[in-house]
Amino acid sequence: MLQGKNALVTGASRGIGRAIALELAKQGANVAVNYAGSEAKAQAVVEEIQKLGGKAFKVQADVANESEVKDMVKKVISEFGGLDILVNNAGITRDNLLMRMKEAEFDQVINTNLKGVFVCTKAVTRQMMKQRSGKIVNVASIVGISGNPGQANYVAAKAGVIGLTKTAAKELASRNIFVNAVAPGFISTDMTDALTDEQRAGMHNMIPLGKLGEAEDVAKVVRFLASDDANYITGQTIHVDGGMVM
Ligand code: NAD
Repeated sequence: MLQGKNALVTGASRGIGRAIALELAKQGANVAVNYAGSEAKAQAVVEEIQKLGGKAFKVQADVANESEVKDMVKKVISEFGGLDILVNNAGITRDNLLMRMKEAEFDQVINTNLKGVFVCTKAVTRQMMKQRSGKIVNVASIVGISGNPGQANYVAAKAGVIGLTKTAAKELASRNIFVNAVAPGFISTDMTDALTDEQRAGMHNMIPLGKLGEAEDVAKVVRFLASDDANYITGQTIHVDGGMVM
């Protein structure tokens, strides 16, 4: 499905980003595994891809830092010879009630989750315009649509990502560059492993499909949006949330 395509996935050393990197590689893409934290974890993802017979390398950059991102994109293009797919997945949370939220907590989340998407999108656009093709997939969140107490910073960023997705889609459509988003709901991660049975049951009650999602559920939709099967879809946000927000 993605044979020979060159992809960059941000925040790909664990969680949903790791699942996306592996899914794209399984479909034949070469994958640059961006990381900001643990180099060892990024290396482990690279090795998993190589075991699958794929081509991958790790590349360090803080997505909110424009000069680091420019260097990262240069490295990816020089390593792979082009760049067809960008997945803006990196994200953080710094939850707090509005009244207690510190300015720094607001700024950190907006910088990584919203400015990071802007900076990475801008950095790949010249190359994709030259190629006259490209797929950009942003990882938003359903809370960017519904709102969520205790997450004013995160919700504002994710709502911003949905708006940015639409604008970039309109600006870049004439160059054959597609920009879409996925909005995951509750996805099983290291964090949800720590939930009590009662907390888990409470979550299940909010989800029509009655279970948490898996990182792979998100990864498969990203793979679809990154493929030629999605060649008449742009500017959309697909909810991957078990029907929670509709
Ligand atoms: P996670 O914390 O496991 O992974 C996030 C990754 O982003 C980490 O590898 C981290 O190192 C990386 N990262 C953070 N800041 C970075 C930066 N400045 N530059 C580069 N990389 C950076 O979380 P996850 O659950 O896998 O989340 C992945 C994405 O999915 C995020 O955008 C998150 O907001 C979104 N999301 C997650 C859920 C969920 O339930 N897990 C729900 C909705 C949306």
